Amino acid sequence: MICIFLGGPGAGKGTQSLRVAEKLGIPHISTGDIFREHIRNKTDLGILAEGYISKGQLVPDEVTMSLIEVRIHADDCKKGFILDGFPRTINQAELFDKLLAKEYKKVDKVINLDVADETIVNRLANRRVCPKCGAAYHTKYLQPKKEGICDLCGAELIQRDDDREEVILKRLSAYHTQTEPLIKYYKEAGTIVDVDGSRVVKIIFDDIMEVIEK
Ligand code: AMP
Repeated sequence: MICIFLGGPGAGKGTQSLRVAEKLGIPHISTGDIFREHIRNKTDLGILAEGYISKGQLVPDEVTMSLIEVRIHADDCKKGFILDGFPRTINQAELFDKLLAKEYKKVDKVINLDVADETIVNRLANRRVCPKCGAAYHTKYLQPKKEGICDLCGAELIQRDDDREEVILKRLSAYHTQTEPLIKYYKEAGTIVDVDGSRVVKIIFDDIMEVIEK
């Protein structure tokens, strides 16, 4: 199963895709998480990516593609994987389809999480994330059992640097201009299903699993 999660920043891609990956027993691949790990480790890639991420811009496609190519060829991806935050441009989607076609593979499902911009701004400004496992919480609506601590792995929660309001607006704008056209791309391919991402986490998850198991 090769499944892509599409949607604006804060649409719930991370929360839902992590749960789906866990349920299916296949890896969850978030390009954002990979970039953040490189930033923490101060690698050359991290230093390069940080320049874009801190401004709410997308990292250049060549950089993202080479990272994805390596990751999806790791041993744990043999039975499939869930992509969170990739592809984010038409060019990435086309290059990814070509990459898969070389190995007689294809994208099986694209889940498009649909959420209004106002909801996104509120969610991101109040979002707290786990730097270790990527789990996301909301200061009011999705609190961890113990304040400031990740339920899943026990690490201390943080606010992402790019979850500041001025950066959020730039990320939303990058989503509308560069990523939203992917909805049409995958509609033409017949692989996309729209899911209302404004509801509670469990209801959205049940809907997604129904789509995936069909
Ligand atoms: P995310 O955690 O998915 O919200 O990603 C955080 C940031 O990482 C984005 O705002 C982009 O700057 C960068 N990023 C993540 N995935 C990609 C991608 N597929 N292409 C380009 N930039 C990306």
